[in-house]
Amino acid sequence: MHELGIVVHVINQIEELAKKNKVNKVVELTLEVGEVSGVVKEYFVDAFEWAKKKTEYMKECHLDYITIQGITYCEDCQKTYPTVQYGKECPYCHSPHTYLVTGKDVMIKNIKVE
Ligand SMILES: [Zn+2]
Repeated sequence: MHELGIVVHVINQIEELAKKNKVNKVVELTLEVGEVSGVVKEYFVDAFEWAKKKTEYMKECHLDYITIQGITYCEDCQKTYPTVQYGKECPYCHSPHTYLVTGKDVMIKNIKVE
C-alpha cells in the first residue's frame, strides 16, 4: 500500500523532530497532500490512525489533511490550468508541452506540540 509507506515516512520524520526538541507529545499535524500525488485520502487517514498508535509522541495526534490542487503550466501559451480536469494537454492551445507546477508533493505544513 502506497499510502502506508508515506505515512511511515512522515511519522518517522516527526518522531525524530519531537525527540530532538524534547517535546512531550505532538498533538496536531497539518499535512498538505497534492491532488495528483497518487495518495487516496481515505487510505491515508486509515493508515495514519493505525500507525500513530505505535509511535512514542503521536498517539493523540490529530491529522489535519489539506488537499492541494494540481496545477499544470503550458509552455506554449504560458497559461495554467487544473491538472485533474484536463491532464497533460493544454485546454487553451492543445499543446502537449506542459508540466506540473503544484499538486505532486506530500508536505508537512505544521505541527503542534505540548
Ligand atoms: Zn497552452
